Amino acid sequence: MAAPAPPARVVVLVVLDAARARSFSCYGYARETTRRIDGLARGALLFDNAFSPAPYTRAAIVHLREPHFPYDPPPPFRNRFGVPTLLPPEAGLDPDWIPSLNRRGGPSPDEAADLARLYDANLAFADDVVGRLRDRLAAAGLWAETALIVTADHGEALGEHGFAGHNEQVYDESTRIPLIVRRPGREAWLAAGPKRVDALASLLDLAPTVAGLFGLPPEVATRAGFRGRSLIAPDFAEGGERTLMTRSAGDLPAFALRDHRMTLIVSSKGQAQLFDRQADPGETRDLAAAQPELLQRQLDALAAHRAALGRATETDEPRPSPRTQEALRALGYLR
Ligand SMILES: [Zn+2]
Repeated sequence: MAAPAPPARVVVLVVLDAARARSFSCYGYARETTRRIDGLARGALLFDNAFSPAPYTRAAIVHLREPHFPYDPPPPFRNRFGVPTLLPPEAGLDPDWIPSLNRRGGPSPDEAADLARLYDANLAFADDVVGRLRDRLAAAGLWAETALIVTADHGEALGEHGFAGHNEQVYDESTRIPLIVRRPGREAWLAAGPKRVDALASLLDLAPTVAGLFGLPPEVATRAGFRGRSLIAPDFAEGGERTLMTRSAGDLPAFALRDHRMTLIVSSKGQAQLFDRQADPGETRDLAAAQPELLQRQLDALAAHRAALGRATETDEPRPSPRTQEALRALGYLR
């Protein structure tokens, strides 16, 4: 049995903007978009089923705009995965370009392929920035005592479900995010690959995780009123029947409720869809009509979830309580 990882002296939380898990090479993508992050994931915990509670941007600590639109990486990244052929060169910069694609029902397959080329290049650029951040910490002699978390605020659609961009949809591509937690210690750099965790994880888990990385006992996180669970707790994966809700932006939001296997989507127009992620990870084959009883149970679960969260979080994005903010400040998580 390996010795427990020592507490970190430095915890670096990198939040990429609009980085979908499925486009990272360490999450199985065919292109090598994230060579440096793949290396940092060695010996780290890699959460395969991490979701954002909201498909839009919120404030974060080390927030990297990339790979968020505009997809305009500098050389030599720009044409790394091929030169876009169908799109005008300025398309990657024009703020109305993605809305214009959506107004006519989303990108065509060829446009989506070009979109992915630019997005992947921008992600490779973001990956390089993360790699250089690691190099700076190493040069400063801090790396051995640094814990690193790499994640994203939400995902990005590149033509899936007839949509490009984020904010409005809550399907996998818009909400499933990378989540990698690398603890300090020898084990990390000796390992061949990441330790993959299948259990559902959420951005709500970050605050108690940061507390745990600094070596604070779990009671501290509990007292601070964090809603999530520490990702480094030995019993994290044994949490049982967890469900995660995602709510889109807007006055008429779309909702997703995910358990370990099923996804319920309720669109802004109230239309319900049901997906089995085990058989259909991309959430493309709607089972709502075929499984009315299961659909009803999931709808009831969503209603219970919303009721439990209360009206305040229905109309506002979730905000930590003053007591939690104080605890976060004490951890250096907030200024
Ligand atoms: Zn964002």
